[in-house]
Amino acid sequence: MRVVVVGAGLAGMRATEQLRLAGCEVVLIEGGTRVGGRVRTVREPFAGGQYSESGAEWVDDVHQRMLAALDRYGIRRLGPGEKWTTVRRWVHRHGELMSPEAVRAADPLVFDELTEFDRLLEEAALGITDPSRPESHPAADALDARSLADVAEQAQLGELANLFKRRDSQGEFAAEPNDVSLLFVAQQRAYQREESAGATVLSHRVEGGFGRLAEAMAAGLDGLISFDEQLIGVDQDADEVTVRTSRRSLSCDHVVLACSLVPLRKVQFQPGMPAALERAVLQLGYGTVTKTSVQWPTRNWPGGYATSDGPAQRVYEPTADQPGEQGILMSYCGGDGGHEWARFSEAERIAMATNEMRAMHHLESAPLGGFSRAWSTQPRYGGSYAVYQPGQVTAHWRVLREPWGRVHLAGEHVATCTGYMEGALESGEAVAARIVESE
Ligand SMILES: Cc1cc2nc3c(=O)[nH]c(=O)nc-3n(C[C@H](O)[C@H](O)[C@H](O)COP(=O)(O)OP(=O)(O)OC[C@H]3O[C@@H](n4cnc5c(N)ncnc54)[C@H](O)[C@@H]3O)c2cc1C
Repeated sequence: MRVVVVGAGLAGMRATEQLRLAGCEVVLIEGGTRVGGRVRTVREPFAGGQYSESGAEWVDDVHQRMLAALDRYGIRRLGPGEKWTTVRRWVHRHGELMSPEAVRAADPLVFDELTEFDRLLEEAALGITDPSRPESHPAADALDARSLADVAEQAQLGELANLFKRRDSQGEFAAEPNDVSLLFVAQQRAYQREESAGATVLSHRVEGGFGRLAEAMAAGLDGLISFDEQLIGVDQDADEVTVRTSRRSLSCDHVVLACSLVPLRKVQFQPGMPAALERAVLQLGYGTVTKTSVQWPTRNWPGGYATSDGPAQRVYEPTADQPGEQGILMSYCGGDGGHEWARFSEAERIAMATNEMRAMHHLESAPLGGFSRAWSTQPRYGGSYAVYQPGQVTAHWRVLREPWGRVHLAGEHVATCTGYMEGALESGEAVAARIVESE
């Protein structure tokens, strides 16, 4: 069987690996000049061998495919693991760095409000018995019509609790609370509950960065990847598919489109997609993340995350587990903030982040260097990761996960573990199994 796979991210590489194992003849085309897609470890211009992730940064200890892949290539997880809580170590508000104790003193109700908010999300998640089928929730339509902002209103969050919950939404879903479907949040919680069996989930960075995993996976594909080759069109009939690229036409039995939906919006399909699939491809939400890293000669800051009421949104140290005198601070901006930052040049963004980090931690020395990447402005991605907006789980979830003749979608956006590297691997495996079974 001949299969063309588009996109050398984790989904496309995993699909290719599995299809080849099953004896298929595979061509893997990649529009860019490197592997990994939204997995991208940045080493330049940092001194002392330090690095920081411009894309995926954490693996959860319930992400079994990812853990197995890291083990397979001898890539070690770092540190004791981070527990994701709403109230991180510090809050930078009105120009002052506050500890959780200071937060409680400033607003004695904040923790109760956050507990109530979480209870409402948990209640929604309880109705999901199969996280791969959120549309089967008995109240699917009603939950999908609501957003995280509606839940914040119901929980009557005060100013501080609202800041935390907005930053959570901008960080986890890369979108504003009113752009995230409650049914999608419930699905994600149900998935995590099932995978963790109720245990606390810990997240880790990895030694040398996740770029090592992408490179190791690519090395296993024996030079099969054709770089700098863009998908232009897909023509299918009952017998075969013709994939038109910037270089050639390839005939095959199946095509796997393992890239974000945003670049697919420019691809010509003959015949045109069925209406429901076309709507899903055109409409599915994508979050925005702009990550900006700045390296400083000494680490004059307290450990842990700071949640900021300023444009930097969240500031933390990606080098916490890396040796050296120097250290890197990262600003992670999602939602409207991710878009805002994307309007500036990279140099301007580095300067803006530098100023806010200075104010936050009273840093006086000159930074050693930095990088900034706004994923929403990158044409081959068009955003950070999929976010199902209100109404989109019931409208688009199922249709995106079904084959359209000989055309199959893969990637984090069609996984159960949507938005994560784990989901990319999961979708690559699922699509390969489906193709192999179909013949
Ligand atoms: C800022 C950020 C932070 C993240 N943090 C985490 C995290 O901490 N933990 C986690 O697990 N996940 C995280 N993620 C998500 C994770 O990176 C993605 O879910 C995953 O890497 C997606 O893999 P993929 O294979 O589905 O798609 P991609 O990685 O996007 O791969 C698709 C490939 O297709 C190529 N392509 C696109 N269009 C074309 C075309 N027309 N022709 C040919 N090739 C094309 C692209 O160049 C790309 O290489 C983060 C993502 C971002 C952006």
